[in-house]
Amino acid sequence: MGLCFDLTDEQEAIRQTCGEFADQVVAPRAAEFDRNQEFPYSVVAQMGELGLFGLPYPTAVGGAGADFVSYLLALEEISRADAALGITLEAGVSLGIAPIFHFGSEQQRERYLPELCSGRGLWAFGLTEPEAGSDAAGTATKAVREGGEYVIDGTKSFITNAGTEISRGVTITAVTGNSGGRPQISAIMVEKGTPGYRQAPPYRKLGWHASDTRELSFDSCRVPIANLVGREGGGFGQFLKVLEGGRIAIAALSVGVAQACLDASLGYSQRRRQFGRTLSRFQATQMKLADMATQIELSRLMVWRAGLLVDQGQPAGRFAAMAKLQASETATWCANQAVQIHGGAGFMEDLPVARYYRDVKINEIGEGTSEIQRLVIASHLLGFKGSVSSLLEGPGTA
Ligand SMILES: Cc1cc2nc3c(=O)[nH]c(=O)nc-3n(C[C@H](O)[C@H](O)[C@H](O)COP(=O)(O)OP(=O)(O)OC[C@H]3O[C@@H](n4cnc5c(N)ncnc54)[C@H](O)[C@@H]3O)c2cc1C
Repeated sequence: MGLCFDLTDEQEAIRQTCGEFADQVVAPRAAEFDRNQEFPYSVVAQMGELGLFGLPYPTAVGGAGADFVSYLLALEEISRADAALGITLEAGVSLGIAPIFHFGSEQQRERYLPELCSGRGLWAFGLTEPEAGSDAAGTATKAVREGGEYVIDGTKSFITNAGTEISRGVTITAVTGNSGGRPQISAIMVEKGTPGYRQAPPYRKLGWHASDTRELSFDSCRVPIANLVGREGGGFGQFLKVLEGGRIAIAALSVGVAQACLDASLGYSQRRRQFGRTLSRFQATQMKLADMATQIELSRLMVWRAGLLVDQGQPAGRFAAMAKLQASETATWCANQAVQIHGGAGFMEDLPVARYYRDVKINEIGEGTSEIQRLVIASHLLGFKGSVSSLLEGPGTA
């Protein structure tokens, strides 16, 4: 793919397959899953059969061997039909599998990746805590070595994909010691069912009703030392890398919802008549549609640009933050415009735009809020190497 971002034949084929799957299988049931707050096991299983959970991972670990841009195209298409299913896929691929794939030992990869890439099992990522959200390095969860085990105590908030019937476990960040006066954060895998691992009932959420989100707690939870991911103290760097890919993926998810808002608005504005003509004949509507389309195109190009950097093995932190900021704020704005274009009907749950409006806001919050994305971008511009903590500590700490 060159600078003009032509998709390869393989990328186009994946986009088309996922688009048809989204339209024919996902879209007809999305409202029902949302209304019933039901995790869509059957659709997740079909996505697994399509190879979507292992899409950007090599066949040697059970993946589909496609590139990262292909995964972003798949995410956009699935999220165009159902953002809750989009986040299930995103959290599975970018948060569940990525830490094990990038930093796990051979044994960990062999043990977990084939099942996770097949979509028959889900793995979660536990970074956020009640007192450590945007300041993710403020982890209070502790993992103390005792013999051949870590003893884990702490709580993780808002964790996606941890509590379904096919959830297998979670990679958490925990303080394992001190280094130079700073807490040493490590990533540790905890299998579901380990004594002392508890999951709360699902949260009641504004949107993403068909996605599983729970609080997890660890009470003297013992896991083997072999469950450490990468080296002890490497957890902070690992989650920055994981979030880099994750943010581009959330941006792709956002583009999907924004596109759904535009598609719905185009259709409705050409059907609904007022003052003897369709809404689409009013210039006020045309301006909205044109601005939506322009912002979506810009967002999509930023997503592809950031994805291309990942595929080329180049640092993508700044462009990931920019893509997420642009795409998530565009999606929220498009959902607002879509409801406005639909008038009172847009406020009713009979049409999908009400769901888009509820589902979209979280994209400006999850995997780093818009404010944090701006700080990440500023830290790159100001020479703080993408480190929000260094930026906040003031001048001279770059
Ligand atoms: C549905 C859902 C699913 C999630 N899934 C996961 C998951 O799977 N795994 C996981 O680990 N986490 C997950 N999260 C957590 C998510 O990443 C956090 O909610 C997010 O990072 C923000 O943290 P917080 O909620 O603690 O907000 P806070 O950090 O308390 O922020 C509150 C407000 O203060 C602002 N703020 C904070 N610091 C600054 C600053 N320095 N400068 C300017 N403004 C600032 C924020 O931008 C925000 O507007 C999920 C959250 C939700 C809602």
